[in-house]
Amino acid sequence: MSCYPERMIYGEFASCDECGTVHRVRIGIGTEPVQAHRFACVQCKQEMGVVVEFGKGVSFGPNATVVEPVDDAPTINLHASFVFAKGELGDPGAFPSMEFSKRLLEAAEERAGEDLGARLAQLSRSQRSRPRPTEEWEQLRWTWSLTRAGKPDLAEKRFQKFLKLSAYDPPPEDLPDWLFQFAADVSGPHFDTLFEAVFEQLRIAKDKPDFPRFVEHYGAKMSVPNGRRYFDLCGAYFKAFPEFSQVHHLVTAGLEIGDDHAAASMNYDETRMFYGNTFEVLGEHVSILTMLNNLIEDRLFDQLRNLTLAEYLKTDKAGRCRAFAENPAFAAITAEFDNQVRNASHHGGMTFDRDTGLVEYRSGKGGQGDLNSMSYARYLARCVTLFMQALVLLRLEVAVAEFFKTQYPL
Ligand SMILES: [Zn+2]
Repeated sequence: MSCYPERMIYGEFASCDECGTVHRVRIGIGTEPVQAHRFACVQCKQEMGVVVEFGKGVSFGPNATVVEPVDDAPTINLHASFVFAKGELGDPGAFPSMEFSKRLLEAAEERAGEDLGARLAQLSRSQRSRPRPTEEWEQLRWTWSLTRAGKPDLAEKRFQKFLKLSAYDPPPEDLPDWLFQFAADVSGPHFDTLFEAVFEQLRIAKDKPDFPRFVEHYGAKMSVPNGRRYFDLCGAYFKAFPEFSQVHHLVTAGLEIGDDHAAASMNYDETRMFYGNTFEVLGEHVSILTMLNNLIEDRLFDQLRNLTLAEYLKTDKAGRCRAFAENPAFAAITAEFDNQVRNASHHGGMTFDRDTGLVEYRSGKGGQGDLNSMSYARYLARCVTLFMQALVLLRLEVAVAEFFKTQYPL
């Protein structure tokens, strides 16, 4: 029970403690040091669990125990970094990373158009030496938390400890720089492209006469509460990363996850509130885009076409992206912003059927409308997209604070 990650697929037999059914569990190994999966017993449908930990091995539970191999045991496919084609979850020959590796390569080729070989070599070098997202987040979280608690000496100690592990070139100068680089690294090439377009808009806005008043307002009124919400949001994402990691690399490479995909690990309890909570944060923080858009359209930063900023901030969050819907760069980083899913996620109006792998919710006020459904894999992908959009905003805010010398969103 040792010797991975060099093994890509790890096989083991486990029985359900409730009904005794034996399953052949095939686990595709990802890159995170701890990989947790939850799946349903094929017989009694109760949740079973398994954890892969580098250096320690595989441990089963809850409701699962390792047993001797059984010839005709049903297969359960799990993979830390990928989802499966629907119908392949129980296929003993399924090998999802092949399909996705090919699509990832195609997406990279499309983006690069240049010397792909050199780019991939560079990518694999940096991936080898850079800490994994959850490990880096752990260091960053402590540094950030100590900074927030007003303990700069202890924060500095954590930061220096990280610098020894870091493969960033150049290494981050301070916490805001680190946060900026981390957010860029985690959100991948797809969201980096979207960030660059947003940054272009900041360049236009900075030359408008009311821009200094916007910076003052941002530093005094928005940066600190926004920083607190980003901190909590990042914590929630990385806490549920064993679930999100199934689609994380696919979403950040710009691949579509549809209802024809199925997530093997279905720890829905860890993710059901995430969409709604992230929607709330994004709904609050998009006001910075509205302010920049006001400037770009040659108005005062706090004057929309037909509303003052104060009136706008009293409107329902669901409609707040309309204020900049005609700005393609801003619209692109709020493309995932679905009030129906938010309501269902927030008010317990969403149910998950393990048998079908579908998340179901009703649209309309009070959940009286039509029944909608999506695969759990797609739900995860939409959560990840929403979070990555928030990280683009976080990078924008750090850039505003850095370049125009005001309070950071920490
Ligand atoms: Zn069972």
